[in-house]
Amino acid sequence: MSAPGYEAVIGLEVHAQLLTKTKQFCGCPTTFGAEPNTNVCPVCLGLPGALPVLNHESVAMAVRTALALGCTIRERSIFARKNYFYPDLPKGYQISQYDLPFSEHGSLEIAAEGDPSVTRRVGITRVHLEEDAGKNLHGVAEVPGKSVIDLNRSGVPLMEIVGEPDLRGPAEAVDYLKRLRDILVALEVNDGNLEEGSFRCDVNISVRRKGSAAYGTRVEIKNVNSFRHVHRAIEHETARLVDLAESGQTFKQHTRQWDDESGRTVFLREKEGSDDYRYFPDPDLPPLVIDERWVGELRASIPELPAARRERLVRELKLPAKDAEVLTGHPKIGDYFEKVLQARPGDAAWAKRAANFVMTEVLADTRVHGLSIELPVTAAQLVELLSLVDAQTISGKQAKEVFAAIKGTAQSPEAYVGDKGMAQVSDAVAIEAICRALITANPKQVAAWKAGKKGIIGFFVGAVMKETKGSANPALLNEILERLLAE
Ligand code: ADP
Ligand code: MG
Ligand code: ZN
Repeated sequence: MSAPGYEAVIGLEVHAQLLTKTKQFCGCPTTFGAEPNTNVCPVCLGLPGALPVLNHESVAMAVRTALALGCTIRERSIFARKNYFYPDLPKGYQISQYDLPFSEHGSLEIAAEGDPSVTRRVGITRVHLEEDAGKNLHGVAEVPGKSVIDLNRSGVPLMEIVGEPDLRGPAEAVDYLKRLRDILVALEVNDGNLEEGSFRCDVNISVRRKGSAAYGTRVEIKNVNSFRHVHRAIEHETARLVDLAESGQTFKQHTRQWDDESGRTVFLREKEGSDDYRYFPDPDLPPLVIDERWVGELRASIPELPAARRERLVRELKLPAKDAEVLTGHPKIGDYFEKVLQARPGDAAWAKRAANFVMTEVLADTRVHGLSIELPVTAAQLVELLSLVDAQTISGKQAKEVFAAIKGTAQSPEAYVGDKGMAQVSDAVAIEAICRALITANPKQVAAWKAGKKGIIGFFVGAVMKETKGSANPALLNEILERLLAE
């Protein structure tokens, strides 16, 4: 931290767009990229008299998330109107949950600041449901000099996840966000895309003297849209707040914005207190009732989460924690890796070799977009390729060549190796014959070896490799050469 004696106190608010087909309170599609103002109806346009109807699917997604975060589910929760004026908010209020959210009191395990081997439990205050606003568009070609409003996003389901002010530094904040994102993606309720704004983060931060129990005044940094920006913003804001504290300056709670180019935060607006929003229960919506039976069904539908999967790979297959982390970050990568593991269940050596190959070769050519993933080879192709190495048909180096040649195609590694005549010669008789011929033809080199110039063996290895087009099994070749030279 920037000045000794101080510590940062950080709490994050995350808004995640739920991957429902339709909006939160109407049947309009949530598809991205449509012509402006085409995915709209009287409800999401905010026309007077239109009545909202809650989306069942979005509740299911939000409840699964809350359960995955260890929250308790409130049986009866209330939707409230949060009143404010904004050009892209036609109703003049946002429907959200306020004093009675549907879930509370969860937690998330993260790696501690400064020591990733230590885990810390961070509190989740609440998860609640709300709706998105529209979008102001500036600089649209058809209407030069004017701004237009696109209401396609108006009413898109959002889930807000409010974290406790339990984070103590930039690394913890980023780890919290990554783990949270991985959980949402594993649940398939959100695509985890910070850059495109479907996973948005507000950073709340204050500083205090170490050992002090009271919190300092916080600032809120709105919509920081990448992990890197979150890290930088917290570093810089911590230093700025410590400077203010050191020079005895006070300030009012307010909202700031991160400017990555200048590397600092800038004042955006005074912070509204919750009184300013005049929250009240939305008279158009009945209480949200989530009964115990449904909660049970939703709980049963939760897949193994990334942390549990990581822990299992480490425990059962002795994979290094770092490998497990990389291989479970995205659920589709985790599923892929597990398919490769299933070829040799419980085989730790196979798991480690597969992990190495996936991390160094496969992931370098993998494209991830949200929930979907494009892999260079199928799990079946990879199993076949690694099995060829195991059987010593090809070397590890050749496996990389085969991978490079077949990636993006449906080719079988075995067929490719056969076609190219790549099969490693592991036939001791064949190798020995080649070696004997070489030894007879090169008496000078043999004499040098006998005189103690052991490095000359490289000459023979090179010659055999040339003759066999690099396919002689290196271990076997060395063994045979040493034996014959010593004769
Ligand atoms: P608001 O909508 O007014 O920002 P919320 O209750 O939704 O209020 O969110 C407040 C966020 O600020 C939470 O994530 C919480 O952890 C964090 N927070 C509260 N007090 C502090 C503080 N003193 N320093 C840093 N973060 C704080
Ligand atoms: Mg806030
Ligand atoms: Zn609509």
